[in-house]
Amino acid sequence: METGGNSLPSGVDGTKRKVCYFYDPEVGNYYYGQGHPMKPHRMRMTHALLSQYGLLQNMHVLKPNPAREKDLCRFHADDYISFLRRITPETQQDQMRQLKRFNVGEDCPVFDGLYNFCQTYAGGSIGGAVKLNHGHCDIAINWAGGLHHAKKCEASGFCYVNDIVLAILELLKTHERVLYVDIDIHHGDGVEEAFYITDRVMTVSFHKFGDYFPGTGDIRDFGFGKGKYYAVNVPLDDGIDDESYQSLFKPIISKVMEVFRPGAVVLQCGADSLSGDRLGCFNLSVKGHAECVRFMRSFNVPLLLLGGGGYTIRNVARCWCYETGVALGVEVEDQMPRHDYIDYYGPDFTLHVAPSNMENKNCRDMLEEIRAELLMNLSRLQHAPSVQFQERPPDTELPEVDEDEEDKDERRRPASTTSIDYKRNYAPSRVKVEYVESVANEKNDEAVDQLSRKIQSTLEPTSSKASVATAEEEAMRCNELEKENSRTLFDEPTKTDQH
Ligand SMILES: [Zn+2]
Repeated sequence: METGGNSLPSGVDGTKRKVCYFYDPEVGNYYYGQGHPMKPHRMRMTHALLSQYGLLQNMHVLKPNPAREKDLCRFHADDYISFLRRITPETQQDQMRQLKRFNVGEDCPVFDGLYNFCQTYAGGSIGGAVKLNHGHCDIAINWAGGLHHAKKCEASGFCYVNDIVLAILELLKTHERVLYVDIDIHHGDGVEEAFYITDRVMTVSFHKFGDYFPGTGDIRDFGFGKGKYYAVNVPLDDGIDDESYQSLFKPIISKVMEVFRPGAVVLQCGADSLSGDRLGCFNLSVKGHAECVRFMRSFNVPLLLLGGGGYTIRNVARCWCYETGVALGVEVEDQMPRHDYIDYYGPDFTLHVAPSNMENKNCRDMLEEIRAELLMNLSRLQHAPSVQFQERPPDTELPEVDEDEEDKDERRRPASTTSIDYKRNYAPSRVKVEYVESVANEKNDEAVDQLSRKIQSTLEPTSSKASVATAEEEAMRCNELEKENSRTLFDEPTKTDQH
């Protein structure tokens, strides 16, 4: 394994970066069900493009080791993870109460191999964080990750486990401050909520706001307590184009980098913000979307690139392929090479597609107002918070299989355990303002213990008390849940994907 990453001189954008790319050849086989817009097949399409463009040779290609139950439980509730592990399409009929309790069923269906799918995509993101922590690469990529809506004990918006929160927790073992940036069209609610009251993680989400899933992400939601001004929400309207988007992205991110000075950055590259997305309503081109990756990369800070939404799958593959090129510092040709999935890309067979002529509802004045307000909030953070950083907790050992040596059946089981119990450190949600005292009764590693003290308020998530709830309480809670979930990401199981 090469070493020496993470220590590049700043400045020259053309500088090559060491890139680790996580991919499991099985991931494209998982299937959410007929008519469901979320299609893991898009990762296989992306991989096929990378292969045919000859990009795989320039990266360290790794097969993620599946995240173990205890890895997932560093953020998620034990009973929720245990439920995900046990539930199958055959047994779900007998589990109606549990399904409701964990919001599994419609947007987030039970399908064959669901738990393995979660282990795979979370394993890639945690593995990427470990590689960055070790300085084995400058950029780690896991297009299967980025499932930003998942909550501590609830699935949401096609997301079951929150690989992003898990990856950030891993990065926090090495880095005092971690920046999370989300360019999916939907608000990055699960990640924001997890870190809402800490100043060690800043979350910045650019999203469609107003009568749109998940309903959160108001500009006035900027964090709480120690985390005040460490959550940044950029509410946008339909039809935003490349120029308008960058008129916010660049000044805001520049200011964030200046005042927060993160040790590592996680960029969620949800591709449902592209023009022509099946569920989205923005008008970004692949180049406009990738400009966020290019800009983020220019700061020379260890970078974890993750996937996310994206429902016109031919464009998702185009986008993530091009962005892999950006990570590598390679300009990918527009004309596509012939490969197994070439038929998806007709009639032009090009990587780039023109944005549409849809109206841009984000007028100049509105964008300027948003920019000014957010820059003002950020200017209140004079200095990056100085964390008294202590000895680094042990890494989660998720040794990945080098794709080149994959046939060796020698996948070391992760040996060391991390004793971090993150489950109790919970941020309040703006939807239900219910603060409960945190009960830190487990011996945590010092550094994360310190973080625990910072996160003093705790949200008791909807289902965490359910194990002791009476049937009546449970029924009431389910009704509430139904109301809350009335805004769904995917309401029409009508047409199957165009291909
Ligand atoms: Zn999305």
